[in-house]
Parts: sequence; C-alpha cells; structure tokens
Amino acid sequence: MVFAMALEEYKRKRRFDETPEPAGEVEKKPAHRFVVQKHDATRLHYDFRLEMEGVLKSWAVPKGPSLDPADKRLAMQVEDHPVSYFDFEGIIPENNYGGGTVMVWDIGTWQPLSPVAVEGKYVPGTDAEAAAMLAKGDFKFRLDGKKLKGDFALVKMKGRRPGSKGTEWLLIKKHDDHAVEGYDIDAYDESVLSKRSLAEIAGDAGSKEWRSRPAGGSGKLKAAWLADAVAKLDKKKLEENKLAKKTDGRKPAAKKKQKK
Ligand code: MN
Repeated sequence: MVFAMALEEYKRKRRFDETPEPAGEVEKKPAHRFVVQKHDATRLHYDFRLEMEGVLKSWAVPKGPSLDPADKRLAMQVEDHPVSYFDFEGIIPENNYGGGTVMVWDIGTWQPLSPVAVEGKYVPGTDAEAAAMLAKGDFKFRLDGKKLKGDFALVKMKGRRPGSKGTEWLLIKKHDDHAVEGYDIDAYDESVLSKRSLAEIAGDAGSKEWRSRPAGGSGKLKAAWLADAVAKLDKKKLEENKLAKKTDGRKPAAKKKQKK
C-alpha cells in the first residue's frame, strides 16, 4: 500500500549529507497546502505537490500546470515527498538525484471536491472522498494559490501503452471563472517566495548554503531573505489555520524582499 511506503523511496534516492533538500518525516497534523516547484533538472519540469495523508503527494509535470481547460498536461506520479519540502527553493548539487535548480513557483491551499457535481458545479468534498478519488484515479480538487486558482482534476491514464509504468496522469483545469484561454506558463518565471527567476536562483551561490529547518521548525536559515520569507509564510499559515474553514480574502503577495 502506498501510504505505508511513505517517504521510504524519497529517502532511498537522496544523500542528505550532499543535498540541501530536507529529510523530513510523515506529518501528523492534517493540512491542505499545495506547492508547485519549477525544477531545472536533466529536463525542465514542474513538480506539483498536494499535502495529503501527512506527506506531499507528488507529480512531475513536464509542461507545467495550465489554467486553460483545453490543455491536458501529462503528470507523472513520483514518490511522496516530506511536508518540509513545501518551501524548498535552491540548488540540488549535480550528480545528486534531481540535481539542478528548484524554484517555489506557486503555493496555496487546496480542498477536495465531491466526485458528484451539483447542478453542473463542483462542491467541496471530504478527505475520505479525496483519498477514494486518488485511489480510483479520478481526483478532483480546488486550488487557492497565488498563480493557480479554481477547479482541477488529476485523471490517471489507463496503461494502454506497452512499457507504461502506470504512473501517468493528466492534470486538467476545469471550466470555471479562473480558467484562462491560451495560458502561457513561461510568462510567469518568478518565485512566489523570493520573486527571483529560475536563472537568478541558479546564479545565486548563497542558495547552495541554504539548509531546510529540521523537523520542529526551530532551526536557523542561513539566507536571511529566505528566513524572512519563510517566517512570513509561517505566520500566514497560522492565521489560515485559525480561520479553519474559509481561506478567502487572502492578502496579495508581500512586497519585494530585500536582497540578502
Ligand atoms: Mn522534480
């Protein structure tokens, strides 16, 4: 069962004395954040991650998510990542797994949608429904991020092709007020954490120094500007948790961070 395997594959693939990525543990507290990381590895792709069952369920999306319902984006499910991966931005050293530059492209919260639409509209569902939809391979959810908003579906492809690993899904935007025809992801090459482009992150030697906070979150971040950004994010998370249900009315992005 996938849940029992949580994070074992993640840990097996990485050398934590070489990579700045967090080791991480399965999180006990349930939460519903999502992150999209732009990852310039062997091949540029986006990693789409939903916080669920104490881990980040993860898909590698070669062309990235789209707000255009006409786009059906291939999404390869990969190993679960620790929740502490949520705000990882920096450089994974060459000859390590996934070596290359990582940008936090989008962050926000998600909620499950009921598999049954009401009068043609999707309505919020339960975590149990989300788990069942994920297992079934037809998973509908609503995103409230800085860049991605509205209703989406992840639909598992049937293993028609020979050699198919059974990890292929399609990430599809549903029709709603947030749909954008002809959405061009390349127009949005900016980190939601640091406002830097991928090239700027790649050229910033300071990123290599960065280490994730240890579990418990009281560790020190080496890059002051990032510590600042993460502190703001933590504060926001806290406020969001207090609000408990509705996440409407979220403030727009904070002002440009000062360089370290
Ligand atoms: Mn990746």
